[in-house]
Amino acid sequence: MAEARLSALLFQRARAVIPGGVNSPVRAWSAVGGEPRFLQQGKGSRVWDADGNEYLDYVGSWGPLLAGHAHPEVVRAVQEAVRDGASFGAPTAQEVEFAEVVCSALPSVDLVRLTNSGTEACMTALRLARAYTGRDRILKFDGCYHGHADALLVRAGSGAATLGIPDSAGVPVPVAASTLVVPFNDADAVAQAFVDYRQRIAAVIVEPVVGNSGVILPRPGFLQALRDLCSEHGAVLVFDEVITGFRLGWSGAQGLYGVIPDLTCLGKVIGGGFPLAAVGGRREIMELLAPSGPVYQAGTLSGNPVAVAAGLATLRLLRRPGTYEQISSLSQLLVEGLRDAITSCGVQACVNAVGSMWTIFFGVDRVENAEQARACDRERFRAWFHGMLAEGVYLPPSPFEAAFVSLAHTDADVTQTVEAARRVLRRLR
Ligand code: PLP
Repeated sequence: MAEARLSALLFQRARAVIPGGVNSPVRAWSAVGGEPRFLQQGKGSRVWDADGNEYLDYVGSWGPLLAGHAHPEVVRAVQEAVRDGASFGAPTAQEVEFAEVVCSALPSVDLVRLTNSGTEACMTALRLARAYTGRDRILKFDGCYHGHADALLVRAGSGAATLGIPDSAGVPVPVAASTLVVPFNDADAVAQAFVDYRQRIAAVIVEPVVGNSGVILPRPGFLQALRDLCSEHGAVLVFDEVITGFRLGWSGAQGLYGVIPDLTCLGKVIGGGFPLAAVGGRREIMELLAPSGPVYQAGTLSGNPVAVAAGLATLRLLRRPGTYEQISSLSQLLVEGLRDAITSCGVQACVNAVGSMWTIFFGVDRVENAEQARACDRERFRAWFHGMLAEGVYLPPSPFEAAFVSLAHTDADVTQTVEAARRVLRRLR
């Protein structure tokens, strides 16, 4: 790998004018050390940094780029849209088409409202749930991230339900305290919370497959148990499918696991790399949104025509027959190759994966919740990350993130990755 002199210079300049030098914290590589590469070009499965170094990319802009970088059909759609005007702040035909596609893909979604970010979508889902139920508490899971709205920035307590403690300075304690946190995959803890907070829980919000503690799969029956508990206690079940929506299949995680939420948050893939997210769900809840109802939500750039064009082009690609099978079988090849490399190199680690998302956890054999994820060997991960980077493979710079395979990845990319992994893992023994 060539040097990263220009990236270092850019980081120096960035730190003088941007807090921490980045516009979203994890980009600063705090979890792995070293200085971030400044990226300037992406094509297919590859990215290039300011110094001209090429990397095989498994970050994919943290999930949106299921079609790969600069897919020609997405680029063309964006160019055509921007030529017609970047934004109107008025309804457009394309956003109607987009909403029709989302509603037809997700049987749980009767109505959908577009937002600019997943944070806004999740914030709106909770506001809707509170308005619909007339209750104030929210239940979330340790290790699930739902954007940076105050009520959702809470650290988990371990074991039984704990009142939320702010996870960030500046979050009012009473706001965070309205959020209950229980371990992922622990339906008994959810049931207990419904007993402890009788008639007070407005919503249960969950990443149906966790992506934000690294990938963690739901145990069989866990999501259905959430569905049953919410129905029994009159709470709104919110699936945060900002990562999994249109990634784990045309109907997302809810299609894969066959569990129907009341509200769904979407983001990332639906915008094809542009700022576009959405909240959708049952008509009687969604109709509470202004202007049809009393719950306020708005956005100057919501449903932006350029973002919608990128999203529509991406969804058109995904709708083609065989797309998800192709990406899943390639991802499986990669995951099997990594597992085999781990075993043959004698390194203690496990790979959690579903569809095109995966995470390697070092020093543990099983990860089914955030506490187990936090027990992983972070030093080993650092060595792994930098080892792979030196091999030209760009992975998420944190042990608690999902890596993503895109439609643009090839068998040759997988072979390159697994061979690199073998060399790096051998040194990690
Ligand atoms: N929900 C999930 C599951 C996410 O992974 C993220 C972002 O990573 C969000 C919500 C917030 O989305 P955004 O970063 O677009 O605000």
